[in-house]
Amino acid sequence: RADLAMYQAKAAGRNTLRFFDPEMQAVVNARAMLEADLRMGLMRNQFLLYYQPHVDEEGRMTGAEALLRWQHPRRGLLTPADFIPLAEDTGLILPLGQWVLKTACAQLAAWSTQPKTANLTLAVNISPRQLRHPDFVIQVLAVLNQTGADPHKLKLELTESMLMDNVEDLIVKMTALKAEGVGFALDDFGTNYSSLTYLKRLPLDQLKIDRSIVRDILTDTGDATIARTIVTLAQSMGLNVIAEGVETREQREFLAQMSCHAFQGYFFGRPAPKEEFGLTHQTPKEPNGLPDKLSQQ
Ligand code: C2E
Ligand code: MG
Ligand code: MG
Ligand code: MG
Repeated sequence: RADLAMYQAKAAGRNTLRFFDPEMQAVVNARAMLEADLRMGLMRNQFLLYYQPHVDEEGRMTGAEALLRWQHPRRGLLTPADFIPLAEDTGLILPLGQWVLKTACAQLAAWSTQPKTANLTLAVNISPRQLRHPDFVIQVLAVLNQTGADPHKLKLELTESMLMDNVEDLIVKMTALKAEGVGFALDDFGTNYSSLTYLKRLPLDQLKIDRSIVRDILTDTGDATIARTIVTLAQSMGLNVIAEGVETREQREFLAQMSCHAFQGYFFGRPAPKEEFGLTHQTPKEPNGLPDKLSQQ
């Protein structure tokens, strides 16, 4: 008992010490402040969606991906890397993800009323915690219903790391949404260890070649091989394939040669707010893509 008390005192001492470490304290403070800001940001409508085009082999826009941004009152425009991890840790990703889904579906419904945008699809990123939530399916269906968006034009992007923990539950959820027409893409594909067994069991529609592979595709034969393998894999499984992070004409041509015919990347258009979306997109004439004066990134 004495030993245990001593051990506990020591453990507590160590913990307390950590909080007197000024660097550690600064990290804790920054995190607490960001969390408070996140809650406030949600209440005050500081989040917005950017849209980045998806294009086919002719350079025609077929749809877009919704990408979350935060107009922070002091820190300016923040990208997901600045706040998604904390939102995920604190559970704030649930209301935030719900907001994303609602806003994206409302946009999709609005596009469908204009002839020029009527056929566009919209991809929305889903975080692991959202997907794991027992009400996920019901929530997605409710948003589709409320907004009037066409489920066949909505694509949910999942990442490989989500697929490992409860495959059975995941398959049930995906199957339920697929029955309503909702599509699924596997984002950032080719970067992690992935189990082909799981892959085969999941009702996916599309693989997205990760941008780190596309980035080096012309210079790194390993990445070229991975890209080619992903395209072949997708074909043999009856899935679509799209390359993300395409920045140059050469990358696009190289990908097209390996039978990848759908693209996303700065070469075709940067993510932009809805007012500017579409303006950034045109069939690029210069090998380095479009001037990015419209981009705020
Ligand atoms: P992601 O889903 O893989 O999205 C693609 C990312 O690549 C975006 O970064 C986009 O701006 C960037 N990108 C697109 N084309 C190019 C290119 O040609 N070159 C380069 N260097 N980058 C390009 P972003 O917007 O910073 O988003 C980062 C990640 O944050 C996303 O990666 C996604 O995983 C996550 N995310 C974004 N929006 C949401 C959201 O609404 N909910 C959740 N849970 N996650 C989100
Ligand atoms: Mg994505
Ligand atoms: Mg990605
Ligand atoms: Mg590489």
